Order: sequence, then structure tokens, then C-alpha cells
Amino acid sequence: MALELRPNCESCDLDLPAGSQIAMICTYECTFCLACVDGLRNVCPNCGGGFTPRPIRPSTGWRPGLSLAQRPASTVRVHMSRTAAEAAELSERLAGTPPSER
Ligand SMILES: [Zn+2]
Ligand SMILES: [Zn+2]
Repeated sequence: MALELRPNCESCDLDLPAGSQIAMICTYECTFCLACVDGLRNVCPNCGGGFTPRPIRPSTGWRPGLSLAQRPASTVRVHMSRTAAEAAELSERLAGTPPSER
């Protein structure tokens, strides 16, 4: 199963098209823009994990069946279910601990 390339930042709703170089994801594919990840101090408000840049899917089918055209990005916009206060509280608790030790 391919990564679900979500179309927006869960926090500020910025568009994050498939080729975006500022799209960040956590292990559950929670998707935020780089500025919001900085604001969250690399703590996902949904799961507490860290973020990594979202890999860019090739637009060209270099191998059969594997391209953005054949495995398109999601069009379902996702919005954070946590409040800003809840997100800040978790960031405060976890930001000092590296993701590998959370
Ligand atoms: Zn954002
Ligand atoms: Zn997460």
C-alpha cells in the first residue's frame, strides 16, 4: 500500500501538493507543513511522534504502475482533531525527548 499523500496541512490548512518540499509526515501519515512542525517542536499532536519530510512520488512511471498518475495523491483534506492548547501541552511534555526515545 502506498503512502496517502494528503493535500493539506492538518493545522494551518496550507495546500501541500504531491511535489511539495515542505510537507512533513509522522509514522501515521499525519501531515503538516514545515512551519507548523517547527511550531509543534517536532511533536505530532495526534500521536506524539516526530516528523520526517514526506517522500516525493515520481510523476513519471519509471517502473510499471508506479507513478503519481497511477497512484494519485489523496484529495481528502484532513484537519487536526486536537485543539491548539492540547497540541502545545503535548509538545511541552515531549519536545525535550528525541522521537527515538518517546
Ligand atoms: Zn501548517
Ligand atoms: Zn502522528
